[in-house]
Formats: sequence, C-alpha cells, structure tokens
Amino acid sequence: MLDYIIVGFGLAGMSFSEQLKKNNKSFVVITQEDKSSSVVAGGMYNPVILKRFTSPWNAIAQMEYAIPFYNEMQARLKVKVVNPLPVLRVFSTIEEQNNWLIASDKPNLSPFLSPNFLKNENAAIQANNDFGVINKAGRLQVAKLLVRYKQDLLNTNSYLQQEFSYNDLVIREDHIIYRDLKAKNIIFSEGYGMKENPYFNYLPLNGTKGEVLIIKSESLKLDSIVKAGVFIIPLEEEDCYLIGATYHWTDKSWVATEEAKIELRDKLDVLLNCEYTIIDQLAGIRPTVKDRRPLVGRHPKHKNMYVLNGMGTRGVMVAPTVSNQLYNYIQNGAELSSEIDIQRFASEYKTVDG
Ligand SMILES: Cc1cc2nc3c(=O)[nH]c(=O)nc-3n(C[C@H](O)[C@H](O)[C@H](O)COP(=O)(O)OP(=O)(O)OC[C@H]3O[C@@H](n4cnc5c(N)ncnc54)[C@H](O)[C@@H]3O)c2cc1C
Repeated sequence: MLDYIIVGFGLAGMSFSEQLKKNNKSFVVITQEDKSSSVVAGGMYNPVILKRFTSPWNAIAQMEYAIPFYNEMQARLKVKVVNPLPVLRVFSTIEEQNNWLIASDKPNLSPFLSPNFLKNENAAIQANNDFGVINKAGRLQVAKLLVRYKQDLLNTNSYLQQEFSYNDLVIREDHIIYRDLKAKNIIFSEGYGMKENPYFNYLPLNGTKGEVLIIKSESLKLDSIVKAGVFIIPLEEEDCYLIGATYHWTDKSWVATEEAKIELRDKLDVLLNCEYTIIDQLAGIRPTVKDRRPLVGRHPKHKNMYVLNGMGTRGVMVAPTVSNQLYNYIQNGAELSSEIDIQRFASEYKTVDG
C-alpha cells in the first residue's frame, strides 16, 4: 500500500512530491508530458506586479518559503536551476518613474524596488528613461528541474509516463485502487488537464493560454531580465532569450499561433535595436481560476481524494507554499486557509451533484 498517488507532474505535482520525499512517504507519479504549462513557463519569480507596482497575493511569504525550497531541491538533486537575476523595468514615462518611487516607499515593496534608477548602457535596448531595478527576483529553470526530478523518480520506479484513466479508479472507504496500484490517498494536480477530471471539473478553472518565443541574438548581451511590453529573459544557452508572454482567454489549444508570434515580435521590435533570430515558439495553458486563488483541498465526497491546482500565472512562487499547506492539512490536520480551500466552491459541487 502506497501513501500517495500523484496525477500530473508539473510545478504543482513536483512540489507535492518534494513534500512527500522530505517526510519519507511512499508515492507514485502518473503523468503525461505533452500538455504542461510548467515546461513552457519563463520560470520567473518576481515579488512585484510590474504593470502597477503592487505586491501580488501573499508574495513575501511565498518567496520566503519557495526560494529555500528550490535551493534544497537543487542541492539534493545535484542540478543548478535557481538563477537569481535582477529585473529591469523600462519606464515609458516620467509619471511611471514617480509611481515607482511612491511604491518603493511602501513597507511590502521597499525590500524589492530599488529607489535608485539605472542608466541604460546597452545600445541594443531602447530605454531612454532609465530602468527601475527589482531585487530578489530571478528564474527557476523549470523544464530542467522537472527532467532531473523525473530521473530521480524513475530510479525508484515511482514515475509512470501515461495518461491517467479516470474510469479505472476504484474508491474504497480507506484507500484507492488504480490498476495494480493501491494507495491511501490520491492527489490530482493536472493543471488545465483538470477540465477532463470528472471528480473536480466542477471547479471554476478558466485557463489562460500563453505563448513565448525563443530568440538568439549575439549583440544583445543581457544578464538581467528586462521588462517593457514583453519580458526578455536570458536563458542558459549562449545568446538565447525567452520572450513572453501572450495572454489569450478563449483559445484553449496547446498549439503555437502565427498571431502570437506577430504580437510578441512587434513588442520586441519596439524594445530592441539589434538583429535577432526566432529559433522556437512554445504555447501552454496556465491553470487560472475565476477568483485568482489556487484550488486546494479534499473532495467533497471522497475523503482520500485531493486537488492541488490553480497555480495561475505564478506557479513558481505559489506551488511550494500551497503544496506544504496541503501536506499539513492531510497529514497533520492543519487548517487550510479559506482563500485556497475548494470549500469556497462547495455550492457549485452541490449543483453538479444534484
Ligand atoms: C507562456 C507561459 C509563461 C509562464 N511564465 C511563468 C513564469 O515566468 N513564472 C511563473 O511562476 N509561472 C509562469 N507561468 C505559469 C506556470 O506555468 C503555471 O502556474 C504552472 O506551471 C502550473 O503548474 P501545474 O503543475 O499546475 O500544471 P502543469 O504544468 O500544466 O502540469 C500538469 C501536468 O499534468 C499532466 N496531465 C494532465 N492531465 C493528465 C492526465 N489525465 N493523466 C496524466 N497526466 C495528466 C500534464 O500533461 C502536465 O504534465 C507561465 C505559463 C505560460 C503558459
């Protein structure tokens, strides 16, 4: 009898796996690999909303937990995936500079927003009004970490690459059976794939498609993340950068589109003065929720069945804390915060269930 089966291995499933590893619980991951938002993600962690210079939900607590969490993971797995990088925000007006200075005085933002502007000395970038600098930001190499983590799980026969068939799940009073596996609990963390999950598809997961470009430019020579109309994120491959991202609320396909390529290229051309080549384009669907909070908790009817989803646009920062909360809820009887608990959608379940 296993302690857990985890369905879906993106940032959410991996973070929950790590909670189980730390606590010596036995588990098997069952996952497909083709429809993963985590693999497409820029992987940025950044404690500031760069449009309005405000703080995202719970950002400080999330950062304080997430960065040591990933640092421990990279040490255990012997892989380098956490890259602290400043974010340089291009100002388009003097008014924006003033708003930045006001924000940098606020207690929740002052650790991150530097009040000293930086002059642009990179001829490949068009930024006439200097940069605002965000400290304590960076990039997690999510795809690389997932591959390394998978290797570790394969070594202990704990990773099955396959589509989970909901019809094959048998729910008993104190355990669940899936084909030849038996476990005390099952965690569903399928990202946008949850739409196909008959147990949890009553939850209001909207999904927001996003696309990014990978470009190569020998003259750009950037070692910070730059944000204007788009993000430019330096990648580990020499002279390569990730450009993103788009937001599309109606298209739910996982394929890259010409429309997104043009949108990103147009925004990039406003920002760059140099030659570049587009070498790839990726598309994914962010698991976004109606009220912009994660979907975490126990199934209303089946007490051994849980969901860990709704990481939204900031899975890198959100997944570690909420996976920790879910673990403590299941194993130690701790309360889930009402903001993330799926109990808030209990009335929607009743409607579906008749
Ligand atoms: C273009 C883009 C850029 C982004 N940039 C950032 C960023 O810079 N920083 C940040 O923090 N976040 C970013 N995000 C958001 C981030 O990707 C998500 O918050 C996060 O990856 C969600 O993780 P998840 O594990 O919930 O879902 P996913 O990563 O989608 O993982 C779900 C997994 O479950 C599997 N699965 C689904 N159904 C089944 C089934 N029936 N059987 C078996 N397996 C199944 C899928 O194949 C997938 O592997 C970005 C997203 C996009 C699309």
